[in-house]
Amino acid sequence: MRSVTISGPRGGTLRDEDKIYTFFNHVSDILGLDQYHYHIDIIVHPTYIHTHPDALGLCYENDGDSIEIHLARKCVEGSTEGIGLLPSNIYRTLAHELLHARQTAKGEYMYERPVRKYEDLIYELVMERM
Ligand SMILES: [Zn+2]
Repeated sequence: MRSVTISGPRGGTLRDEDKIYTFFNHVSDILGLDQYHYHIDIIVHPTYIHTHPDALGLCYENDGDSIEIHLARKCVEGSTEGIGLLPSNIYRTLAHELLHARQTAKGEYMYERPVRKYEDLIYELVMERM
C-alpha cells in the first residue's frame, strides 16, 4: 500500500496506534501489499460500528485510490443496541479485513471463503512476530 493512516471515527490518535501499525506492517509483508498503490485508512471504533452494529469489521474501496477499513473494539451481544457489549479482537478482524483489501486491490470480488480460510493463519504468523 502506498500509505496508511490509523485513527478513531472522528479522527484523533489511538492509544494502541503503534501496535496496530506494527501489526499492519507484518500482514502487509506476508501478503505482499506493498505492490498495490492504494492509500489505506484504518478507522477504529471505540465500541461498535454505528452504521453496522453487527459487523466486527468492514472493508471497501473508495475511488480506485483508497481502501477504508473499519474495526469495532466491541461487538453487540444479542439484538438490543447498546446492551451486552463484549470486547472483540481488533487484530484478528484486521487480518480478515486486510485479506479483503488484498482482494479488492487485485481487482477481485471480496469473497468470504478464501478470507476465512487464511485469516487465522495470517493472525497467528503475525502474532509470532509481535
Ligand atoms: Zn469478510
